Amino acid sequence: MKTRVVIVGGGTAGWLTAGIIASRNPLLGEDSTTEVVLLESPDVKNLGVGEGTWPTMRDTLKQIGISERAFLRCCDASFKQASKFVGWRQDANHYYYHPFTAPAGYGVVSLADDWTDAGCPGDFESWVSAQGHACEQHLTPKLPQLPEYAFTYNYGYHLNAGKFVALLHEHCTDRLGVTYRQGHVTSIESHENGAIKSLTLDNGNVVEGDLFVDCSGFSSVLIGKHYQVPFVSQRGVLFNDTAIAAQVNYTEEQTPIASATVATAQSHGWIWDIALQSRRGIGHVFASEFCDAEQAEQTLRRYIAGDANLLQDDVTTRVIRFDPGHRKYFWHHNCVAIGVSAGFVEPLEATALVLIEKSAEWIADQLPRTPAAMQVLAKRFNQMTNARWQEIIDFIKLHYVLSDRTDSAYWRTHQHHESWTESLSEALQLWQSQPPGLNESNNRQELFSSASKQYVLFGMGFRSTDWQTSGLLPLQKPLIERFKREIQQHVNRVNTELLTNREYLQKLKR
Ligand SMILES: Cc1cc2nc3c(=O)[nH]c(=O)nc-3n(C[C@H](O)[C@H](O)[C@H](O)COP(=O)(O)OP(=O)(O)OC[C@H]3O[C@@H](n4cnc5c(N)ncnc54)[C@H](O)[C@@H]3O)c2cc1C
Repeated sequence: MKTRVVIVGGGTAGWLTAGIIASRNPLLGEDSTTEVVLLESPDVKNLGVGEGTWPTMRDTLKQIGISERAFLRCCDASFKQASKFVGWRQDANHYYYHPFTAPAGYGVVSLADDWTDAGCPGDFESWVSAQGHACEQHLTPKLPQLPEYAFTYNYGYHLNAGKFVALLHEHCTDRLGVTYRQGHVTSIESHENGAIKSLTLDNGNVVEGDLFVDCSGFSSVLIGKHYQVPFVSQRGVLFNDTAIAAQVNYTEEQTPIASATVATAQSHGWIWDIALQSRRGIGHVFASEFCDAEQAEQTLRRYIAGDANLLQDDVTTRVIRFDPGHRKYFWHHNCVAIGVSAGFVEPLEATALVLIEKSAEWIADQLPRTPAAMQVLAKRFNQMTNARWQEIIDFIKLHYVLSDRTDSAYWRTHQHHESWTESLSEALQLWQSQPPGLNESNNRQELFSSASKQYVLFGMGFRSTDWQTSGLLPLQKPLIERFKREIQQHVNRVNTELLTNREYLQKLKR
């Protein structure tokens, strides 16, 4: 008997989950023990905003069996090497990079300790990495001769979410054996023990299954509406609850394609700016408690108007409202929620797709075949996912609490300790006496490494003021000097050896 996985929802979460499960539990062939059916409502549109990914997406695509070339061509995609934060401090011109490549020597020796020892001179990111330098020049993260998915600098992507879903749909159904059915889930039938037995669609079809994955986005059809699993609002910590999104064309075909998501702070939120091959995705995410939509749209339009590389004609916008937060638990009986149905907080640091990938991988690897296994796995999944949400919330909040902006109640309220989580306050206390270190966390499933925390903390001007020089560092000096020389060599090489994003992607198209 095959285990049948029924996925409700054909957005990015649904198709990524289908692809990941199918690639780790082959559906085709006589020996197959798994079946995957994906249901999609013809009436409910996908959210489809998510345009920035983490480097994890390279492994996901490779694992699913999609070539990088096809992906880049089909999805209007480009390379993302970092997030660039502009104006997050009082000085409007201040910026820093949070790149995807860890500091040189990471795991061998701590250049963060070395930088702190040296009295925190200049910009932390350029002390420990050359990636920001490459981003400033809109360069690719890979030498042209490197094979698909290999890198010189670690990278993810910027992509057109609608095209990405179309590619995944085609690949999963044509190559991996996923069954696709259109229909709106209208009712849910249960077994006596409360587990889901089947779903009825508006066209009368009934779909039975063993495991049901709720990828129905904000509708949250199974975990929310059916099971009524409580929603944990995080509005008191992360205030942003509205986004105004626009898609803007380039003025010229040769306009540079940025290698980083640019996040520019505003009085009541921030503006994201994501460069694809043919256009830029730009949007303003803000807190409605502090600013109305009209004012936020004006801010967005001013940003667009101030950029000579953007075509100003017919810029239309779309408003998306959300309650920042997540479910209290994510797996109940034989139903597990992935994607927006499980939770969503603002898009800073692009944490949504990576959580989808990680959740789907875990489920795909452990795919429960009996009710007993299901019960144990559900408990573990809930613990792990709750810890991940806590981590995401703390890491996003970190960007705000470190700001010295006082120009609005929005920023001042972020700095009030009452809006901080206990775990974040604790971590900040620890970092006061030592830079984030490799082994400071006991969470094996951690999403954000200590490297990420270093980039944000020190980029925002935080200093470990109680730091006592590490006794180890003098012994490690030759090693540290070697890594620093390597960074300098990289800086010298990138200009001559790396193509710009535009050049690389144009070559690829040809
Ligand atoms: C402003 C903004 C910016 C973002 N930026 C990023 C980013 O840069 N990086 C990132 O990782 N993420 C980002 N995200 C998040 C990202 O867009 C989502 O995580 C992603 O689109 C996944 O959505 P989903 O598949 O869970 O839901 P959806 O795309 O909403 O899909 C839901 C699916 O469920 C189906 N459905 C609903 N009800 C029913 C029903 N009754 N029966 C059958 N089917 C049903 C719908 O038809 C649809 O196919 C952003 C989100 C927002 C709002």
